This record gives sequence, C-alpha cells and structure tokens, in this order.
Amino acid sequence: MINAFLLRLYAMSSIAFEKITVISRLENPLKSFAVDEQMIEYRRDPLTGWLSVINARRAERVKQAAAASAEKRVLDEVIESSRKGCFFCPENIERSTPRFPQEVFPEGRLWRGECCIFPNLYPFAKHHAVATLTTQHFVDVGDFRHQNVFDNLWLAREFFRRVREIDPKAKYPMFNWNHLPPAAASIIHPHTQILVEEQPTPAEKQMLEKSKRFFKKWGECFWEALVREERRLGERMVYESKDVAVVASFAPRGNRELQLIVKYASSLLDLSDRVLDEVAKLLCALLRGYSQLGVGSFNTSTYSAGFGEGADYFWTSFRIISRPQPATLYTSDTGFMERFHDEWVIEGFPEDFAKAIRRSLDEVL
Ligand SMILES: [Zn+2]
Repeated sequence: MINAFLLRLYAMSSIAFEKITVISRLENPLKSFAVDEQMIEYRRDPLTGWLSVINARRAERVKQAAAASAEKRVLDEVIESSRKGCFFCPENIERSTPRFPQEVFPEGRLWRGECCIFPNLYPFAKHHAVATLTTQHFVDVGDFRHQNVFDNLWLAREFFRRVREIDPKAKYPMFNWNHLPPAAASIIHPHTQILVEEQPTPAEKQMLEKSKRFFKKWGECFWEALVREERRLGERMVYESKDVAVVASFAPRGNRELQLIVKYASSLLDLSDRVLDEVAKLLCALLRGYSQLGVGSFNTSTYSAGFGEGADYFWTSFRIISRPQPATLYTSDTGFMERFHDEWVIEGFPEDFAKAIRRSLDEVL
C-alpha cells in the first residue's frame, strides 16, 4: 500500500519548495524479511518544475561492479597508460591539438599560466573550445589549484569576448568540466569545454523563460529571491559572500548537486577578475570538500543568459554534481528514469549533503 500526501511549503512566498512523500513497503531479505518502509520524496524545482525523486536509502545499495574491482589500482593503470602520447601533456600539446583559424585568434592558441585554449577537434557547436587546467596529466578531485582554475576561467572569458566580436549570432556562453571517464571525459588530462551557441540549450531556455516570467509576476529576480529564501531557511545554504552564494539544490539533477550562483551577473561574460578569482577559489574548496566525502569524479556546467541579456531577471550559475568512482566497470548513476523520462533519481537528501560539505569547507576555506 502506498500512502501519499502533499506538502506545499511556504505557499505564500514567491518561491515554493514543493514535495510529495510516499512510503514504499517491502519484506526485506537483509532484515530477515521484516517489513521495511522506505520513504520516497518527489520534489519539484522551484523555478522550472523539473522533477527529482529521492530515496536516501539507495546509497546503501550493493554495487556489484564496484565491489568486484580494485578501484585505486585500476585508476593508477589508466593514468599511466594514458600519459604516454597524451595530447594535452606539455610535450605534445603544440603538435597534437588544433589551432584556431586566423579570424578567431591569430595566435592559434592562447596560453595563460599552465592553461591553454584551442578548438575541440570534434566540436558539437560552431564555437567549441577546449582548455587545459594544468600541465599535470592527472589531478585528483581535491587537488585542483586556485590559480589554474582562475587561468582556465579567464581563458574561457577571453574566448567568449572574441567570439562575440566576430560572430554576432553566437550569444550563449557555456563553461563545462567533466572530470574522468565516469563523468564522460574521454581524456584523463584535466580540461574544460567552452562553447558559445546561437541558441540556449533546452534546459537553459526554460530557465531563462521562467526567470523572465517570475520577474514579470513578482517584480524581482528569481535568483535573488531564491538566495534570500535559502539564507532564511539555512538548511541548504553552504556559503555566501557579497558576490556569490552556494546552495545544495532542493530538487537536484544529480547526486550531491551544488549551485554556485553569481549575484547580479546575468551572463558568464559579465564576471570580473575579482569574481572569477572567488569562483576559482570556491570551486577548488568545494572539490576538496567533495573529495573528503569520497567523490572521485564530477561534472560542472553553467547556465547563462545571452550576451547583454537578462540583467534584471537572471543570475548566472555553475552546477556541480558527483559521478561514480572511476573503475573498470562501474555502476552508472544514470539509467532509464534520467535518459528516457527526464526524472532524476537521487540517493541522498540535499539538506544532509549541505551539512556535510559545509563541514568539509570549514577546513579549507
Ligand atoms: Zn596529459
């Protein structure tokens, strides 16, 4: 039997955190077939209405593939075998990576510190660059350095500026970071992917449209209201300063999802050096926090308004989610619900994660 009840919290506020809880009952072989009740929570994203379903007990699952492999040793072998001939290592980068055509950057590639930006050899956008994060072939999740991440972000912003000058149709910037194969990185060497699109992605489009509608209805920026509400509630707020706020998502689209919201900046192009510096410092600190919680792989992406748009209704944000531990055969965290049904199955409560990562950040910030 399934009991359902609807909780619409804070209905009087412009931000609504909606959730429905159901109880699933089973006779559990791990508890001598005693009746086991598991709480399942459906949550809607307060802006888009996207659905996430959380069962915190799923983290207990036995993952047969992971249990069978000696993860650390396998990762070490992959690091070693991929080092030889790596396109992004300093000895190969100049002859193995593509160059921008003259009209984009006459220099071919741009360097800053240890980071280099060049075109993606197999692009999936008209303007699709790759930027290395370091000259080191492998970096563990918790070991990224502030200066390197700053330089990488700085190069991304330089690319956005240049594309804007040469192609007025290309308006939507994106910064993406897949770390290691479980996060869909085909190359071990740390790198980011930087795109400028003529159209926002479908998810970004919804966020922009709904933020605009929210502004028309309530007369304030959704993101400002969200940060204020999260600050008031406290249970998902991880960090806040004058320029940025970090919150654990109420309805995550991946395990351990964080949003790093940049205040008053509608587009990634609007980030000043000072803000880039704080974002870089925070990303490194957050990744150190993830690492302390046992995370070995992650994705980061951004949502941004188009160049020169959205000043009154949109704040740009970075999202981070954890991905499975690198191993030869691992259990993917994305299955039929996510791939076919656009519903995100999550194995822990954002409020618990916020508490845990806040604690790890105390040691590093
Ligand atoms: Zn390398």
